[in-house]
Amino acid sequence: MNKSHTPSTSNFIKQIIAADLASGKHVKIRTRFPPEPNGYLHLGHAKSILLNFGLAKEYGGACNLRFDDTNPEKEEQAYVDSIVESVKWLGADFGGKALYASDYFDFMYQCAEHLVTSGNAYVDSQSADEMKHNRGFFTKPGVDSLFRSRSSSENLSLLREMRDGKHADGAHVLRAKIDMRSPNINLRDPALYRIKKATHHRTGDKWCIYPMYTYAHPIEDAVEKITHSLCTLEFEDQRPFYDWLLNKLADGGLLQRPLPQQIEFARLNLTHVLLSKRLLIKLVEGGHVDGWDDPRMPTLAGARRRGYTADGLRRFAERIGVSKAHQMIDYSILEDCMREHLNEIAPRRMAVLDPIKLVIENYPEGQEELMDVPNHPQKPEWGKRQVPFSRELWIERDDYTDSPPKGYFRLAPGATVRLRYGYAVKCEGYHNGIVRCTYLAETRSGTPGADAVKVKGNIHWVSVKHAHAAQVHLYDRLFKIEHPESVEHLNPDSIKTVSAQLEPGLKDSKESHVQFERHGYFICDDGRVNRTVTLRDSWAKH
Ligand code: ATP
Ligand code: MG
Repeated sequence: MNKSHTPSTSNFIKQIIAADLASGKHVKIRTRFPPEPNGYLHLGHAKSILLNFGLAKEYGGACNLRFDDTNPEKEEQAYVDSIVESVKWLGADFGGKALYASDYFDFMYQCAEHLVTSGNAYVDSQSADEMKHNRGFFTKPGVDSLFRSRSSSENLSLLREMRDGKHADGAHVLRAKIDMRSPNINLRDPALYRIKKATHHRTGDKWCIYPMYTYAHPIEDAVEKITHSLCTLEFEDQRPFYDWLLNKLADGGLLQRPLPQQIEFARLNLTHVLLSKRLLIKLVEGGHVDGWDDPRMPTLAGARRRGYTADGLRRFAERIGVSKAHQMIDYSILEDCMREHLNEIAPRRMAVLDPIKLVIENYPEGQEELMDVPNHPQKPEWGKRQVPFSRELWIERDDYTDSPPKGYFRLAPGATVRLRYGYAVKCEGYHNGIVRCTYLAETRSGTPGADAVKVKGNIHWVSVKHAHAAQVHLYDRLFKIEHPESVEHLNPDSIKTVSAQLEPGLKDSKESHVQFERHGYFICDDGRVNRTVTLRDSWAKH
């Protein structure tokens, strides 16, 4: 059960788990990923998913996917569906069945009655403003509510009236009775239930009171017998309440020990993007992007359309690790992980993104040859494909210049280059928008004459007659600065669409990753060709 690790892959959470298994506190661990279905998952969530599901797998435990659907007003089934799809895409195994906090509403309510009858909760009837004012702040202790000394029976009947819809929204709140003078503001009688006459996407109109997140979450964990409840550092100050609540309920016989342990880790922050559903919603609603799954969005749905892979994200999660220290990760690390994985899985293809025509004047008109082109230079087992070659070819505009600067080894009047996997050609000039060349017939790649001429430049091409014309979307980073705060920082060049010429075999490919030689990694997604990432980091600091 307790597998051994090399120190480099260990982290403080694994140490806690290993100790709990060794001491016999737990025989099997159970973690959970608890999204609120109020938006699409983003790259930060991927860190949490890969961490929780990864630990369960590593230690032979289990991990639940649980929707924390306690806030009826912002939640929707469409978000549930997209979250399930993204979690599956990441390869996380949640046993095929998602769980819902709303399934525990009855039990949560039963717990609330228990807290009331045991003197640990009361119904407060102060206005929201009074409550806020009387809570105090960091350096100022709070003040007890006038309603704090209500009797248990009065509290119980008020709570039941709240549940039965006898009171208006905001008229009363159920609060824990802890300590209004606690130095931890979260312990100053936190709210447990509020009245909200809203329809819930799963329970409909059954409830008109809803549990607060801070009350619901520990109970959800305990009901599911979660052993290690991992959350981000912002929740550190909530831990005392988490423990207070679960211990009160265990003392009352409503829960069994051992209780779940909350453990905090640093959230993922990435440069050049925003990782917050609240801010991402603004980009969608403001029309700044083309929906939640726009390939520029840092959502998992967007990442997938961009051509990012689940394996690449796993590599990324491993590389950045888990710690308690705040993390700001450079976006280029994520891109490097994608390049690394795509390099392994993407076959090579030729595509001309900014085409100009090249004519080989001494190549017979009407003649065609099939050139043998390797699918992956480091993987001979992937074999070769045949790509048609003819007198007229598309080449990249910037592979030709009239006046070559020093060190320019591509086409210029008088220069000789190799057309990859084809022939060496000599540039005779440029006329009417066409690069004119002659070829050296004995230099065909793969024949003994290929090495007869030494050339420094080696450019790609696509036969004009056979080319597949396509719109290619060149995506770049969504924000132009490292630490964006608003839409003003959007990168105006985050999408550029070009009319490209692709080698003919790309015509019908679907959802597949390819490398366009010299350009980068691309994905062909339902007729759209999207650039995932360039071959080299064009944002590197100089
Ligand atoms: P957001 O701030 O974007 O709205 P959230 O934390 O409110 O995110 P939830 O649906 O509540 O979104 O989050 C589900 C889980 O994902 C939580 O356990 C949360 O801690 C974790 N999580 C969210 N953002 C990050 C992040 N940037 N890095 C790591 N984990 C994260
Ligand atoms: Mg949240």
